[in-house]
Amino acid sequence: MKLQTQLIHGGISEDKQTGAVSMPIYMASTFHQTHIGQAKYEYSRTSNPTRQAVEALVADIEQGTAGFAFASGSAAITTVFSMFNAGDHIVVGNDVYGGTFRLLNQVFKRLGLTFTAVDTRDLKAVEQAITKDTKAIYLETPTNPLLHVSDIEALAKLAHAHNILSIIDNTFASPIVQQPLTLGVDIVLHSASKYLGGHSDVIAGVVVVKDPALAEQIGFLQNAIGAILAPQESWLLQRGIKTLALRMQAHLANTQALFNFLKAQPEVAKIYYPGDPDNPDYAVAKKQMHGFGAMLSFELQPGLDPQKFVENLHVITLAESLGALESLIEIPSLMTHSSVPREIRLANGIQDELIRLSVGVEAVDDLKADLTAGFAALK
Ligand SMILES: *Cc1c(COP(=O)(O)O)cnc(C)c1O
Repeated sequence: MKLQTQLIHGGISEDKQTGAVSMPIYMASTFHQTHIGQAKYEYSRTSNPTRQAVEALVADIEQGTAGFAFASGSAAITTVFSMFNAGDHIVVGNDVYGGTFRLLNQVFKRLGLTFTAVDTRDLKAVEQAITKDTKAIYLETPTNPLLHVSDIEALAKLAHAHNILSIIDNTFASPIVQQPLTLGVDIVLHSASKYLGGHSDVIAGVVVVKDPALAEQIGFLQNAIGAILAPQESWLLQRGIKTLALRMQAHLANTQALFNFLKAQPEVAKIYYPGDPDNPDYAVAKKQMHGFGAMLSFELQPGLDPQKFVENLHVITLAESLGALESLIEIPSLMTHSSVPREIRLANGIQDELIRLSVGVEAVDDLKADLTAGFAALK
């Protein structure tokens, strides 16, 4: 089955009880057990039919065997990192999501995990960071907000050669653009609050694996920790996922068009976009991505005020988050990445002036007109 069809018919897309073509929202905390130990469902933290439907769906669309839905992307990441023990070491991408950085440094470090942050585009640096205590490589590609692209297949191979796990946060790409499990990765996760949900109306996270032993481990932790996705949100998420292919088509086309537009603007000094043939990561992006994603970042010419620019847009919404129907713009240094210490931010190439744009699915001419008005306001 092609991915476009899987999005609609994958997982458990019909209610067996009634034939309803939209899975009902089963708002029940517990289930009647006619015979002890034989019930299909017992208690909704452990398993709920609506959540199970979306979990089966995400497993299908990421080409895994088991999916798990959580109350947020952060809950998914927390559950995955709970696999490790005090003293374990993880190699982490050096510009992972700000909230992940905070979670690792302010929660998991306290519990005894250790981390080395590296640029995961540099395979040698990743290999050199691996110690006898290393248990996993954890990364994002493309990264946030500089859209750096790492070679997924090469990193998965490297991890396997060292007998450690490879874990990818696939939020920025979506399964339409890349499917890390097919490239050898062990665990893929998403903040489903972004492209999977797609409508800025649900906070959710998912984890997908292929290996049955890993599935058992994540399933155990999901139930033990209990940061599960509620039935209402599970339904909303599977509803969003059904249109993912259609949405991504529009996102990708608009992004390519806005890249070409921004490249021609004298006010723009630098653009970060994996689909830019001059981008050093272009070859790797072309090899592993279907389309180059719908995020781009750019810097204005020195002296131009990025805050004035973003505050003078009217179609493009000034807001954190990404992956929504509506275009969202933000300044990482002041917003999404303000919790990352400035010297670390600058060392990773995230200038104070950087602007990040999540390109939506509006008519591209309206987006261009809005950006043009924003540039005019700088004069
Ligand atoms: C938003 C985001 C997260 C966190 O997800 P929440 O659903 O907000 O908890 C994790 N990783 C990436 C790449 C994100 O963009």
